[in-house]
Amino acid sequence: LLGPDGTARPTIFAEMSALAARTGAVNLGQGFPDVDGPASVVEAAVAAMRSGRNQYPPGAGTPELRRAVVDHQRRHYGLDVDPDREVLVTTGATEALAATVLALAGPGEEVLTLEPFYDSYAAVIALAGATHTTAPLVRVPARGSAPAFRLDEAALRAAFSPRTRLVLLNTPHNPTGAVLSRTELGLVARLAREHDALVVTDEVYEHLVFDGAEHVPVATLPGMADRTLTISSAGKTFSFTGWKIGWLTGPAPLVDAVRAVKQFLTYVSGAPFQPAIAHALTDDAVAAWVRDLATSLAARRDLLCDGLEAAGFTVTRPAGTYFVVADGAPLGFEDGADLCRRLPELAGVVGVPVRAFTRPGSAADDALASAVRFTFVKREDVLHDAVDRLARLAS
Ligand code: PMP
Ligand code: GLN
Repeated sequence: LLGPDGTARPTIFAEMSALAARTGAVNLGQGFPDVDGPASVVEAAVAAMRSGRNQYPPGAGTPELRRAVVDHQRRHYGLDVDPDREVLVTTGATEALAATVLALAGPGEEVLTLEPFYDSYAAVIALAGATHTTAPLVRVPARGSAPAFRLDEAALRAAFSPRTRLVLLNTPHNPTGAVLSRTELGLVARLAREHDALVVTDEVYEHLVFDGAEHVPVATLPGMADRTLTISSAGKTFSFTGWKIGWLTGPAPLVDAVRAVKQFLTYVSGAPFQPAIAHALTDDAVAAWVRDLATSLAARRDLLCDGLEAAGFTVTRPAGTYFVVADGAPLGFEDGADLCRRLPELAGVVGVPVRAFTRPGSAADDALASAVRFTFVKREDVLHDAVDRLARLAS
């Protein structure tokens, strides 16, 4: 986690946002919206502060947020969760992921993730002293429909071993935008049961799916509720990434183990934001706002994807999240990191090399060498500006 000079190495997102700030380029690197979430949610947080909810809240989370999470899991997925024993509120999904891996995996045990993977996974697996194994998502050119990233069944089977303790899944998937199908998840579930592994699912983009794609929580698959911890967060669903309110649901003994670690990471999480997110999770007008966000994101995805294609990239159109993976090889760039370093000067745009989400020398690393991740969770005028700038690459 430290650079060669002994100082903390910035994350790829911090590095690319700094590059954008330094060069004046349009920042399509770090994934955060440039428009805040609903005003009623802000008002709820302000009201909570004004009414004196400013001291340590309960460690497991305030009761109304735990009940709201339970209500959400029932309404959207038919899951039955106990608000007192099976929910833990965390400081974003990031803390839920860290506390889970630290609680449940250690030296001699393997944590299996998809590859590419969100950057914090590798870091927390290393902090836990566990071994990181991966199964690649591969770009499949589909006949009759658009190419997409899919799980490779043989590689997934081969990635399991008797030491596999956790399978850490992410759907909808950052960075590829893949939404894993019921069949793919069923295969993971079967293999997890065969190997007596637990499944941890990062579902922070659960509501950001397009074109009728269905988000399937692993916990809803037959026989999986008993061995699955489900993680989500308010950041992406409600466009409050800076509030850092997340949560985790699952069997009481597992949630308890994670809570034991969380106590010593952050103790508790942001008091006044918790009632505000409880409101967000249960309010009908906010639910409509989230649906509109997904609809507008689908349109913004098309705007950016069309622009990237016109500029000469090969694009894999995502079914969810707010990221698209574009391949720079047709433009003559074999190395995505090199392309990202030069993009501000060549086109005035910043992206993130997909290799920031792979391990050197892996199959996914090879396959995605020239790939760049761009985010489309920006205002339409910003995306139009980015697309105009990218057109310079084609000329
Ligand atoms: N998981 C994934 C896949 C993400 O993209 C992110 C970034 N938002 C996180 C976890 C972290 O979420 P949070 O900001 O709630 O900690
Ligand atoms: N999740 C966001 C992304 O993938 C960024 C979060 C962060 O900066 N750690 O871009």
